[in-house]
Amino acid sequence: MNDLILEVRALQKSYGRVMAVDSVSFDLCRGEVLALLGPSGCGKSTTLRLVAGLEEPEGGEIKIRGKTVASASRRVFVSAEKRNLGLVFQSYAIWPHMTVGKNIAYPLEIRGFPRAKIQEKVEEVLNLVGLGEFGMRRATQLSGGQQQRVALARALAYEPDILLLDEPLSNLDAKLRAEMRLQLKALQRRLGMTILYVTHDQVEAMSLANRVAVMRQGKIEQLGTPLEVYESPASFFVQSFVGRVLTLPVVLGSANGTVFQIDVTPDSISAHHDSSPNGNRVRLAIRPEDVTIEPLSDAISKNGIRGIVEDLIYCGDHIEYVLRVGETQLLFDTSKDTALERGQEVVLRMNAERVKTWPASDE
Ligand code: ADP
Repeated sequence: MNDLILEVRALQKSYGRVMAVDSVSFDLCRGEVLALLGPSGCGKSTTLRLVAGLEEPEGGEIKIRGKTVASASRRVFVSAEKRNLGLVFQSYAIWPHMTVGKNIAYPLEIRGFPRAKIQEKVEEVLNLVGLGEFGMRRATQLSGGQQQRVALARALAYEPDILLLDEPLSNLDAKLRAEMRLQLKALQRRLGMTILYVTHDQVEAMSLANRVAVMRQGKIEQLGTPLEVYESPASFFVQSFVGRVLTLPVVLGSANGTVFQIDVTPDSISAHHDSSPNGNRVRLAIRPEDVTIEPLSDAISKNGIRGIVEDLIYCGDHIEYVLRVGETQLLFDTSKDTALERGQEVVLRMNAERVKTWPASDE
């Protein structure tokens, strides 16, 4: 996958005093899916709109297939319709007064495709998204999921170099979203599509993308495979955004190489801490799947921390426990087999390899 399609370098865009996109750089190779993932307002859509040519950057450069399409310093700006990109937004933006077929044909007519070719393309892409029978329907007679597939078919029809998808599944209900996610992944694999995918949903990003760029306040905080950002997060922000995490304020005790004693009064555990501690008050973070809880017994062996069950909520396939450790309340899901009671004293046992420590404040 070394065939570079998109190169984004030091991209910059502000709105008034808001730095919407701040020194953003990444590459996209042919057939690759890159997700821009982050909370609302972190600059994902603006980055996508800059790539699309719907916004002009104040700094940096964008190349598509090696050709500069935007450069602030060289004053290059190629307009959106000349970039050969396919766009799909959260609002399907299909034309309600047209049939499904016409929705797809219309952009091709504008681009001057021959009539016979248009007919062929409309049929081909409708079949691709599983709407082969729907060409003559009015677009408004379709369900939300079907309308979104029309929007996708329309973007695919003129064979764009890159498909730019901005929260394409956000308007669908949870079940349909999960279904569409699978369909989109299958279609992407089959066609080898190159996709830049904007989402705030970590499951969507992790399951669809080959690489994920986690964004925060206009910057990319980490860019890596789903495995890398989940297993080796670069910051507490990344760790907590790409999955669930239990956190506790702790005190770093004595060290033996990079293994520190971590005090969670009255207990202590040992774990790796890579950077030299900046003060000894830090934040411990661990994923729930790396913790087990069990009833308190006499011996608190290694890497156990005492807590108490404050509440428990039966959720059918699992139980949600509200635990208290010192001053901190933790929410912890576990299987139905773990039978603990309200008020019971417990031990949280942590996998020492998986304990992370971060600065107490992540700002
Ligand atoms: P995201 O897609 O991650 O939700 P956006 O790229 O839409 O974030 O927005 C990034 C920041 O830029 C936000 O603070 C947002 O309010 C601001 N912003 C985006 N578009 C505009 C605009 N047209 N005018 C003013 N501010 C904007």
